[in-house]
Amino acid sequence: MPIHITHPDTADTITANLAGAALVISPRYGTSYSFDRAGRLLGLFYATRSYQRTLDHHILERLAGRNGPRRRELSIADRDDLLARVFDDLRTLSDSLPRLDIPPDESRVLVAALDRVLGFGPDQLAADGAVFQTLYQPVSILPPDQYLALVLQATEGCSWNRCTFCGLYRDRRFRILNPESFRDHCAHVRDFFGDGLSLRRGIFLADANALIIPQARLRAIFETAQEFFATPEGPRPVYSFVSAFDVERKSPDEWAELHTLGLDRAYIGMETGDDGLLRFLNKPGTVQDAIQAVQALHAGGVATGVILMAGIGGDRYAQDHMDHSVEAIRAMQLGPRDQVYLSNYVPAPLTEYPALAAEAGIRALSVEEIEAQLREMQTRLREVVSQTVVSPYHVDGFAL
Ligand code: SF4
Repeated sequence: MPIHITHPDTADTITANLAGAALVISPRYGTSYSFDRAGRLLGLFYATRSYQRTLDHHILERLAGRNGPRRRELSIADRDDLLARVFDDLRTLSDSLPRLDIPPDESRVLVAALDRVLGFGPDQLAADGAVFQTLYQPVSILPPDQYLALVLQATEGCSWNRCTFCGLYRDRRFRILNPESFRDHCAHVRDFFGDGLSLRRGIFLADANALIIPQARLRAIFETAQEFFATPEGPRPVYSFVSAFDVERKSPDEWAELHTLGLDRAYIGMETGDDGLLRFLNKPGTVQDAIQAVQALHAGGVATGVILMAGIGGDRYAQDHMDHSVEAIRAMQLGPRDQVYLSNYVPAPLTEYPALAAEAGIRALSVEEIEAQLREMQTRLREVVSQTVVSPYHVDGFAL
């Protein structure tokens, strides 16, 4: 049950919700702070502004844009100033507790929660962010329903890494962690999150294409992950990206085996249902590969998340991209456990696509045109996949 107290001097309503996987403390209307159960600050609503603290210790201000969410990273000085004010506020609340009229049980819980979060103050958060950076390569992207996943990097980079629009992994070579390194990674990640693990419902096996690891090695990776992170109820669900072209490397029995080890959903970045555009983007495989990949995963009991990209292909491909993407999704026969995400094309530094498109005489769509394409695609897709959630996925809003 949430705690509600009225401050006798200020008449502020203090609320605290301390029973869930996250601790949420609000010293007054319009201000609230959220923490994981280790006491690590995750997000705050302060002075009418909303912020996210990333695990590598940046603070991002969330801004609502007309064309989807945006974010602005605070300078180091602004971050530290904001954190100082937040922790002053929490200390003031803690100091005032003895004068508040709170039932003893609630008081004990609130005192313990405040002790925990105050013990994870600005210096500890800075040190925590530095440790996080030693445990992970930058986590470039996650599907939007996985932003609170426990990321385990079984691979680094992308095994293909040649799609002309994608700059996610240009900074690293593809490699598969050996069993000892992966075990060490799991141990360090477990120690890092501590009690904060309770917030991390599933495991996201990163980076890109971790599921193409040969079955014997992948089985060992799943077993190690579950050895460290299974819940009392059973395996922790596992999620991962996979290239459609690579799904057929595994048999339905192998997908079924991974499903029994926790694999719940695999995300396929199809981008478009138009083969001509796929070739132009230098994506591996064809639309038929993607349709068959979904069928193979379904046969093994694994749900899918299919990602399309609005705006890619500019004016030249706009109509075929729309029509053929709708047809491809229809052919996949998606069900209630599947998802469709519509991302928006954002030019990435050091990628070839903008120059190749200009060379081919393709006009890039404006932000407004991309949003219009996304909305139309969403409407048309909802007509062909009535059981499946179709959601926007603004990739520029991602931060871990
Ligand atoms: S879009 Fe996917 S397959 Fe292509 S380079 Fe990027 S991560 Fe790799």
